[in-house]
Amino acid sequence: MNWAAGVQCVTKCDNRKPKPGELAYRKGHVLTIIDTSTRKGYYKARHNTTGEEGFINSNNVREREALRVDHSLSFMPWFHGKISGPEAVSKLQPAEDGLFLVRESIRHPGDYVLCVSFSGEVFHYRVIYQDNKLTIDYKQFFYNLIDMIEFYSKNNDSVVTTLMKPKKKQGTKSAEVELSKTGWLLDITKLTLGENIGEGEYGAVYQGEYMDQKVAVKIIKCDVRAQAFLQETAVMTKLQHKNLVRLLGVILHKGLHIVTELMTKGNLGNFLRTRGRSVINSVQLLRFALDVCEGMEYLESKKLVHRDLAARNVLVSDNSVAKVSDFGLTKVDSKESDKAKLPIKWTAPEALKKEKFSTKSDVWSFGVLLWEIFSYGRQPYPKMSLKDVKENVEGGYRMDAPDDCPAEVYTLMRLCWEQEPRRRPGFSKLREKLEQEMVKRSPRPEAKHREGMGSGSRS
Ligand code: ATP
Repeated sequence: MNWAAGVQCVTKCDNRKPKPGELAYRKGHVLTIIDTSTRKGYYKARHNTTGEEGFINSNNVREREALRVDHSLSFMPWFHGKISGPEAVSKLQPAEDGLFLVRESIRHPGDYVLCVSFSGEVFHYRVIYQDNKLTIDYKQFFYNLIDMIEFYSKNNDSVVTTLMKPKKKQGTKSAEVELSKTGWLLDITKLTLGENIGEGEYGAVYQGEYMDQKVAVKIIKCDVRAQAFLQETAVMTKLQHKNLVRLLGVILHKGLHIVTELMTKGNLGNFLRTRGRSVINSVQLLRFALDVCEGMEYLESKKLVHRDLAARNVLVSDNSVAKVSDFGLTKVDSKESDKAKLPIKWTAPEALKKEKFSTKSDVWSFGVLLWEIFSYGRQPYPKMSLKDVKENVEGGYRMDAPDDCPAEVYTLMRLCWEQEPRRRPGFSKLREKLEQEMVKRSPRPEAKHREGMGSGSRS
């Protein structure tokens, strides 16, 4: 385990009578490491609940347990996903007044159905999604299903009975209980939200502070989406690497708050576009490429496929370290995908055509990312329509080298864009090649070239 400042850990035993300077805690408490270098065998840490700081014996803490990456975590145990009406009826047996579930409508995609048992019958209410709100009767509108269920648990205006007992989806575990047991549940009262720093497809990203630490908070309001993002979060709890954006924890409040380390310099695409050639030299570009490559080598070692590697999904820290983010599409296996959402210009031909995602399709995307880096954030395949990109690439067309791109780097791009996935190099080979380039170009310790690094340490 790489113990570093900012890492969260869980205590293995009690320390009820701390010596002067030491921190008091009970077994299972979550602490944040502040410093690992002041006292041998001890870490300086902050208690996540009390906010107190002090030394802890390094043997008395363990890494936070990762969440299981499966579909069993739920904060809507009554949500059964896409099941038919008759299936819902059979799930609501034996009949019990007020027993309910919510399912996704098969006939009207995007809508939901509330199914309630009453007097031995099951009543189905279509929940219409309109103008970002949900309604059953066009009188009451809700931002999400959780609010709706809460309302109809107290009122029976348009529903035959108040909702009394959720029919739990089999095999689901309460997200709240699991997150809190494993130490990933954060406390909303300790979070201060600041300005909006980005917009994702499903939620806004804000700057914030959590117990004196600068953080980024992605807020996903729609609860069905949030449920899907729990999966992304579960993947992130397994990963600890200097070149992957670190998850600090989550808050369950009006959907889901995903709290990560703050990457003050934003995404790599914008970073390069707004600074350009006059500010960033080729050694810094190589350094970014190497950062991403190391992060991807780690993902490869964990048998994870990213599927959406692109400069917009790489973020830059305060001391200019590039880290891979957005594990939204990351899958442990490579079977599922949603074709309509694929980022065509970054996706390997076999993934576009046959949905064959693998580390080697990530390598293809890495080649496109290298092109983005060395063109200072330009849009790949400039002026070419998505349809043309698909057809041309399939027919063997490849982008030219960006202006002033080192020949060796362009050679790497072309290797990443081999039609046959097996012929593409792996991330460790790519890292070796990039390191060699780095050594050739920076006789002095390369870290000094980083913008704004000063004496700050790399996390
Ligand atoms: P998704 O499709 O998963 O909703 P997205 O790729 O569209 O997401 P987000 O991950 O939501 O985008 O991020 C949107 C923007 O917010 C990023 O491009 C970046 O500028 C900013 N951002 C996201 N996370 C952070 C962070 N940890 N630190 C700083 N800025 C961030």
